[in-house]
Amino acid sequence: MTSQKDMPEMLTIRPPSEWRSLLVRVTRGCKWNRCRFCGIYPALGQSSFSIRTVAEVKHDIDLLRLLRPSAETAFFGDADPLEAGVDAFSEIAVYLRQVFLIKRLTCYARASTLYRLKEESIHLLARAGLNRVHIGLESGDPETLRFQRKGLSPKMVRQVSQWLKQAGIEISFYVLLGLGGRDHWQQHIEKTAALINEIEPEFVRIRRLWLYGDETGIAGAECPLWREIRAGSFIPQTAEGSVLEMRLLLARLDRLSTFVACDHQNNYVNVSGTLKEDRDEMLAEIDSFLVLPSEERQAHYEEVGSQI
Ligand code: SF4
Repeated sequence: MTSQKDMPEMLTIRPPSEWRSLLVRVTRGCKWNRCRFCGIYPALGQSSFSIRTVAEVKHDIDLLRLLRPSAETAFFGDADPLEAGVDAFSEIAVYLRQVFLIKRLTCYARASTLYRLKEESIHLLARAGLNRVHIGLESGDPETLRFQRKGLSPKMVRQVSQWLKQAGIEISFYVLLGLGGRDHWQQHIEKTAALINEIEPEFVRIRRLWLYGDETGIAGAECPLWREIRAGSFIPQTAEGSVLEMRLLLARLDRLSTFVACDHQNNYVNVSGTLKEDRDEMLAEIDSFLVLPSEERQAHYEEVGSQI
């Protein structure tokens, strides 16, 4: 049924880098919804997954034309809009590009969905105007990925990245500090760096694991990982440990053309730059934080806090 609402439907979450983009909701929620460290869509009120009709989404694009006629970039959500299918996604992308003169169209994408679509479909998406995908890699360590029920493997990510590069679609990976916990942090970071070195994505965006619960402001919801913490099967990383993780990650990354960003307010140290040119400077910035007096560092960790 076609919705004829006056306002376009809002996304639940978007990448910080898409703050100026037209936000187009193609699907609702996350179909996978199994990652132990997440559960964020149900926590924010989107408990089920659904695919919107092409007519509904086109109607939203018509509304956006009135609201944001000069927008230059666009982002499709929610968590994995490619679940709408290549035909529907492409029809919406082509329509958007007829209505708006946008320079960039991006979306969130699960590596497992891209893997299922295969190379030919990825080329079709590129032809329909998709320029960049935001992929939650989180870790390059198979053990960490399995424990966290991420539903992807390094092998899958390697293959998908090759197809994306051949199709000319940029890759933006998200890496989650703290995901290996205190016991596996070195393995988590070293294998993540090795996978990134192999793939050389255009972007790596660094995040810190944040466990929402009663004390962190989302009423009635709790991150599924809390259960493992209570059972003793996951020991959360310390604040300082996550800074050391970031340092190790940068130290292990080669001088790639990849742009690294810490574009989330939960990161304790915010560095950014291209690995090829700025890696040493970024490492020096982290080191200059780590030599501050301990009380100063602790005060900083408390000040940064945790928020969505
Ligand atoms: S991390 Fe992404 S794929 Fe995993 S449950 Fe959350 S939204 Fe879904």
